[in-house]
Amino acid sequence: MASLSLVNVCKTFKNGQIAVKNFNLDIRDQEFLILVGPSGCGKSTTLRMIAGLEEISSGELWIDGELMNLTVPQKRDLSMVFQSYALYPHLTVYENMAFSLRVRNVGKTEIDQRVRKAADVLCISHLLDRKPHALSGGQKQRVAIGSAIVREPKAYLMDEPLSNLDAKLRTQMRVELSKIHKELGATMIYVTHDQVEAMTLGTRIVVMNSGVILQAAEPKVLYTNPINKFVAGFIGSPSMNFIPVWVERREERICVEFSKNRLFVNEECAKRLIEGDYLGRRVYLGIRPEDLHETGTKDQELKLHVEIKEVLGSEILLHGKIGRSPVCARLKPDFPSEGGREVSIFADMSRILLFDME
Ligand code: ADP
Repeated sequence: MASLSLVNVCKTFKNGQIAVKNFNLDIRDQEFLILVGPSGCGKSTTLRMIAGLEEISSGELWIDGELMNLTVPQKRDLSMVFQSYALYPHLTVYENMAFSLRVRNVGKTEIDQRVRKAADVLCISHLLDRKPHALSGGQKQRVAIGSAIVREPKAYLMDEPLSNLDAKLRTQMRVELSKIHKELGATMIYVTHDQVEAMTLGTRIVVMNSGVILQAAEPKVLYTNPINKFVAGFIGSPSMNFIPVWVERREERICVEFSKNRLFVNEECAKRLIEGDYLGRRVYLGIRPEDLHETGTKDQELKLHVEIKEVLGSEILLHGKIGRSPVCARLKPDFPSEGGREVSIFADMSRILLFDME
């Protein structure tokens, strides 16, 4: 397996479109690295430059200490799995998986061993004689992953491999991919725009926007300490609520105020606000739906005007407004609430985040 380094990598397309700017990242051996961000932010272009399918405009790509900028894709020893399954329709599952080994003149016995081992890992041993047309979407995707696994490459590159599957299969395959990663001890670089996939699969996540890295960190760090409002809003589902508030001093304590609501911050946060010279200024209060609760003290109380209640089974999502700000709260299903009513909910003040206004 491999470690990779991207140093100041940039990509400008012939039409002048700048897709990736000064991308700097060290990818460690056996990492499950996720590139995530909204559509068009440069994820696929970054992956394709690593694969060698797209020329690097400037900067350096190193794989295991070797400069790879000009190395042809076949010589990089990487396997790519695409969103479309890219299977040969006239070949059986076995032959599809064996194909890349045959063209590399790997011996028959070795091919057989590798194909059967990969099929076993992916639970598709019973499908080896079928042709792609007789497979479901999920099975096809397993075969595509199997074709990548048999090559035993230095690293796997995956571009939204699950996005053609239905929701249930996607969840199943997510778990499978995690297992495969552990079992193979593989270095994986995985592109997705789905933050749930990013959070559940990644050992580290790179959040991109407009061709640049905003933050690269472990999932938990991204969730608890997002570097800015964009990352905070991108990670988490439903996404974080942002409410414009004033930072004030009241009753000898520091609070944030908005539309008749007043929340007192804890000591650590108060210190941060005073030192950051935030008193009297307007900031965004960031609070996640799961950090709003049914009970609490007056210091944490918010008045939510309920518009819609979504019942999810073990919990509900209350969508409404606090003042003029749209807010969503994830609460227990027995919480008394109906559309049109005003209810009190309580913010976990140890979990709030404050962001500068742009
Ligand atoms: P993502 O994978 O995050 O959706 P891409 O890497 O595909 O984003 O694209 C990044 C930007 O580069 C987008 O603005 C896209 O339109 C542009 N782009 C991608 N491929 C080409 C190309 N071959 N020629 C010109 N612009 C391109």
